[in-house]
Amino acid sequence: MDLNELYSQVILEHSQDKSNKRVLDPYTMEERGHNPSCGDDITLRVDIEDGVVKDIAYTGIGCAISQASTSIMCDQIRGLKVEEAYEKLDLFLKMIRGEETDDEKLEEELEEGYVFKNISTMPARVKCAVLAWHTLKNAIDEQGEIS
Ligand SMILES: [Zn+2]
Repeated sequence: MDLNELYSQVILEHSQDKSNKRVLDPYTMEERGHNPSCGDDITLRVDIEDGVVKDIAYTGIGCAISQASTSIMCDQIRGLKVEEAYEKLDLFLKMIRGEETDDEKLEEELEEGYVFKNISTMPARVKCAVLAWHTLKNAIDEQGEIS
């Protein structure tokens, strides 16, 4: 299966999977991400305990790509130390910008997130794909969770 087929399959699965789409309470961090060019509007909630992402979930509306990307991010980040989560968010954004091109590393570290690698060939969808990752990275920056 090539990356484009895999991409379609993962988007379909995750845009239908609502396990990450719920109101998380309690939570320690909340951040809204908005992509006006498409209408994607998500709110992430994260429960951080002892420097570890205990749980993460989202609510909101958006296209299949943004919803699937957000769901994948939640799966990838849950259970990680905040520092590890931050590195993973950064790696995803570097992949999208074409700054990290080591396929083996990207596939290993980003797992399903790797299917977005070719999104840069669809410029109109890039903002949909990065919304959640960018939003959470900003939230971690703002809260100064990393010492
Ligand atoms: Zn979108």
